Amino acid sequence: MAPTQLQPARGTHDLIGEEFRRHHQVVETARRIATLYGFEEWVTPIFEDTRVFARSLGDTSDVVTKEMYTFEDRGGESVTLRPENTAGVCRALVSNGLTQGGLPRKVFYAGPMFRYERPQKGRYRQFHQIGLEILGAAEPLADAEAIAAGWHIQQELGIDDGTVLEINTLGDGPSRDAYRAALVAYFQQHAESLSADSKVRLEKNPLRILDSKDKGDRALIEGAPTIFAYLTPEAAAFFEGVKRHLDRFGVPYRVNPRIVRGLDYYSHTAFEFVTEKLGAQGTVMAGGRYDGLVEEMGGPPTPSVGWAAGVERLGLLLEVAGSTPAAARPVAIIPVGEAAEGPALDLLQRLRRAGVVAEIGYKGNLKRRMERANKQSARAALILGEDEIAKGMVQLRNLDAGTQESLTLAEVVARVAAPARG
Ligand code: ATP
Ligand code: MG
Repeated sequence: MAPTQLQPARGTHDLIGEEFRRHHQVVETARRIATLYGFEEWVTPIFEDTRVFARSLGDTSDVVTKEMYTFEDRGGESVTLRPENTAGVCRALVSNGLTQGGLPRKVFYAGPMFRYERPQKGRYRQFHQIGLEILGAAEPLADAEAIAAGWHIQQELGIDDGTVLEINTLGDGPSRDAYRAALVAYFQQHAESLSADSKVRLEKNPLRILDSKDKGDRALIEGAPTIFAYLTPEAAAFFEGVKRHLDRFGVPYRVNPRIVRGLDYYSHTAFEFVTEKLGAQGTVMAGGRYDGLVEEMGGPPTPSVGWAAGVERLGLLLEVAGSTPAAARPVAIIPVGEAAEGPALDLLQRLRRAGVVAEIGYKGNLKRRMERANKQSARAALILGEDEIAKGMVQLRNLDAGTQESLTLAEVVARVAAPARG
């Protein structure tokens, strides 16, 4: 019996060809811009002690209640595949003894995340995020700088058109207590029309109702009070500060009082970059301020702010914009006859050392090798025949223009290394 052909596990996907190139473009662009803003990259483990997430994400977030990949390892420890990386970065700050001195620390990361979700376009069980964290900064300028870096990355990718920054404040502790009471009073009047999930939220964390995707809930949320009437003067001034700095950074935004983050650890600033171009999966980048999280990990009070963005969703925006990066076009080295093989390999390596993408077929006559060069969309073919080699010459065929000329070996390296020609 033939073995069954195995498929990728549900909700996972392979990154090959155009998909890989978009992914790579997103991550490399983000890495480059983050460096310009003074961020250093951290790589933290893909799985952590379950308590890292259970403690920090709160026990009412969807991520903790329904989406975590948690299992016991062979030693009986409960471990979880990271559903996000902010908790891991905060854990790493504390476990590496980095909470004293050297703050603020600005951290960039990129890597896979895992959530047990119903897979759809732009929503996977293994997906990838890029993200920034500014650890140990209580000033609204930090919030604005993190957001400005995120906006800069989207501009650099050429996908800022049609994407809007929506920001809100969740206030400080006293603001939120007062607001929570007002929300409970409001939703209790409509309790019978709330979804089952939101009835539970009303008990445990009424703010979370504002994040509900249920249609009936959404209608009720329209009429709910906003936090603005309940902000303390300090919280209101903080929000004003963030907006003022965003103006100075030249980042456009829209205040949306319904934005709350999906995780429980946020205070003050909450924001999302949203687009109409991806249907229901419209949030591409999301974040906010989390002043209590490092303490949850056993560290000292360390006010922090950050965001995470879905690489697949940014990649979809690149695709929609028609900006999928092209594959590199090689120069094909084509030896004709056995005596040409040595010089061909020599030229091949000289080109590669000069930074030219160069390829050689492993076998075949001139015709087969030319066919392969065209298939690889080579930009040029360098044909080394025995007669030419005797004279120290090589034929350069421009595969776009169809022109051909005879050059010395020294000339040809300089010629194909110049990107505009060849
Ligand atoms: P959503 O409301 O879409 O479920 P979220 O609030 O759960 O998003 P965050 O936890 O804030 O998302 O994660 C930040 C970003 O990571 C999201 O804005 C999105 O771009 C991306 N993301 C989150 N979950 C997934 C997923 N399952 N598949 C692909 N990308 C995801
Ligand atoms: Mg989610």
